[in-house]
Amino acid sequence: MDAAVDASTSQFELNEEQRAIQEMAQAFAADRVAPNALDWDRRKHFPADVIRETGPLGLGGIYVRDDVGGSALGRLDAVLIFEALSHADPAFSSFISIHNMVASMIDRFGNEEQRQRFLPKLTSMEWLASYCLTEPSSGSDAAALKTRAVKSGGDYVLNGTKQFISGAGDSDVYAVMVRTGADGPKGISTIVVPKDAPGLSFGANEHKMGWHMQSTRQVIFEDCKVPAENLLSGEGAGFGIAMAGLDGGRLNIAACSLGGAQSALDKALTYAAERKAFGSKINQFQALQFRLADMETELQAARIFLYAAASKLDRKAPDAGKWSAMAKRFVTDTGFNVANDALQLLGGYGYLHDYGIEKLVRDLRVHQILEGTNEIMRVIIARALIGR
Ligand SMILES: Cc1cc2nc3c(=O)[nH]c(=O)nc-3n(C[C@H](O)[C@H](O)[C@H](O)COP(=O)(O)OP(=O)(O)OC[C@H]3O[C@@H](n4cnc5c(N)ncnc54)[C@H](O)[C@@H]3O)c2cc1C
Repeated sequence: MDAAVDASTSQFELNEEQRAIQEMAQAFAADRVAPNALDWDRRKHFPADVIRETGPLGLGGIYVRDDVGGSALGRLDAVLIFEALSHADPAFSSFISIHNMVASMIDRFGNEEQRQRFLPKLTSMEWLASYCLTEPSSGSDAAALKTRAVKSGGDYVLNGTKQFISGAGDSDVYAVMVRTGADGPKGISTIVVPKDAPGLSFGANEHKMGWHMQSTRQVIFEDCKVPAENLLSGEGAGFGIAMAGLDGGRLNIAACSLGGAQSALDKALTYAAERKAFGSKINQFQALQFRLADMETELQAARIFLYAAASKLDRKAPDAGKWSAMAKRFVTDTGFNVANDALQLLGGYGYLHDYGIEKLVRDLRVHQILEGTNEIMRVIIARALIGR
């Protein structure tokens, strides 16, 4: 049995439907993603065609309601999907996660007309979506954002710049957090901006450490006109919408770390069973056996923690936000460390692209930074613990 399957099912009771969802995602990942992941990374190629193939599988709106083509699944189901996809390629999986974050924001906070206008095309993956919160001068302190939207007749006119936007230039739809009111979180709104909006442009693709298969660009608004009916919920609701998106997004990113790290551990186990040094297979050295034992233990602990956090969100538990933050912090740190240890286990070969582990280490590193840095996760956890 595949190690990832065994790891996912043995420690947490999944029902039959969840196992079927997991197997479907694993089969797609093994067939369509894994064989291409290193090539996409090397060429910095955005595989829009393969991403779109996930639409008919129900992965374009995993927790979107089914009247608009969503799969109406839960957060634990989503975690299983992202874990499976990221076993093949965490960067691919993360892009699908961001797309789902936007789709769920429109499903949850959009009116009926907006749901019908955007979601069938997003759930089918005919349109791809990006999430635009960060700005050049505000990342962790997201409520300090400056991009302004001013109402003018039937439009909003947007001016400002978003920074580090995943999929920018490739996506068709952008969920943009803008300032429509006073300073602080209550002055923020969310507007859905289509790619062809006049006054919208994109910066150069950033040269970055990992996540090479998806672009990271600035999104620039210069007197960008967007119909007023693209405002989600009311003016001033945007910060809450952005944070609601991130609660689920953080679990998905953690799942992407888990799947990537499991893949690194699987590769290390195979390698250590074949490589010889000092007359024996290297998996016979107790120092390496102990490292493998620790990697397995830490990954299983991360998995159980993540699944527990996802089921808290599914059950709308009052402390689900704290658990999402704890899981994001713990699982992304553990995932990176396990992948890095796996690289060490391959010696010099771990450092070579063709062995696949250095890519995993590069890809997983950013999960400790985005969707709220792991320091900000600690801020959220501490606030919940000791109150403000
Ligand atoms: C590849 C990539 C893709 C991204 N994709 C997107 C995207 O699609 N959409 C989007 O909106 N954003 C995206 N981001 C942005 C990402 O979410 C931010 O980089 C992140 O939130 C951190 O913001 P910052 O870079 O401005 O760092 P800063 O906020 O300037 O933080 C700098 C350092 O200070 C620490 N720090 C800040 N405040 C505190 C505090 N109160 N206590 C303790 N430590 C603190 C931080 O943890 C960090 O270590 C992406 C980033 C990258 C690298």
